[in-house]
Amino acid sequence: MRTCRAAHCGAPTSSRFSPHCRRHKSRLRRQGDVEQTAIRRSELAPYVARVRERIAKNAHSPLWGHLDARWAALAISAKDTASNRVQSRYQRQAAHEVVNLDAECSARDIAITALAMFMFWSERPERFLSDAAFRLQLVKRVRALSSRHSGLRYDHRASKQERVYRELSPKAGMIVARDLTAAFGGAGLQLAELEKRDQERKQAMTDEINQALRELV
Ligand SMILES: [Zn+2]
Repeated sequence: MRTCRAAHCGAPTSSRFSPHCRRHKSRLRRQGDVEQTAIRRSELAPYVARVRERIAKNAHSPLWGHLDARWAALAISAKDTASNRVQSRYQRQAAHEVVNLDAECSARDIAITALAMFMFWSERPERFLSDAAFRLQLVKRVRALSSRHSGLRYDHRASKQERVYRELSPKAGMIVARDLTAAFGGAGLQLAELEKRDQERKQAMTDEINQALRELV
C-alpha cells in the first residue's frame, strides 16, 4: 500500500497509479494544488472595492471600455470555437464556459473580478501555492459571478437545499484562465503597481508627520 504524497497526510493513495489520497487528489483537481484552499468572495472583496475605486477615480479613462471590448472579443471567438468540432474537447468545453459567462454576466463585472484577482496575487502571492492554483482560483471567482455553473440539490439528511457546483475540468479551466490572463493580466498588474505607489506615498506622509511631531519643542 502506498501513502499520499501530500505533507503530513499519510492516508493511503486513491489507487495504485495516484500519488495522492482521495481528499488531496480532489483538492488538486478542484483547487489547483494539493494544499490550496479556495479564495472566498469575502477575501477578494477588498480588492474588488479598490478596483471599483480606481475606476471611479478615472471615470473618463478609455481603459475600461477597452477591457470590456477585450471580453467581448473573447466571447465572439468562443462562440466560433464552441461549435467547431475540429477543436479539442477541452477547448470546446472552455469556449462553452466563456459563452455561458458572457450570457449571464456583464463584461465589466468579469473585468473587475479578474483585475481584483491579479491585484490580490500581486500583493499576497503566498496565498496561491502555484501558478496553476492561481489560475484555477481566478477562473473559479469569475465563474462565481454566474449562476449557471451551479444548481440546487436537496440534501435529505440536512433537510435543506444546498448549492452544488458543476465542475469544469481542470484542463478546460486552464484554457479559460489563459484567456482571462491575456485579456486582463497586464492591466491587473499595472493597477497593483498603482496601489503600491499610493500606499508608499501615504506611508511617506505618515513618516514625515511623525518625524515633525518628534521635532516639536
Ligand atoms: Zn492525502
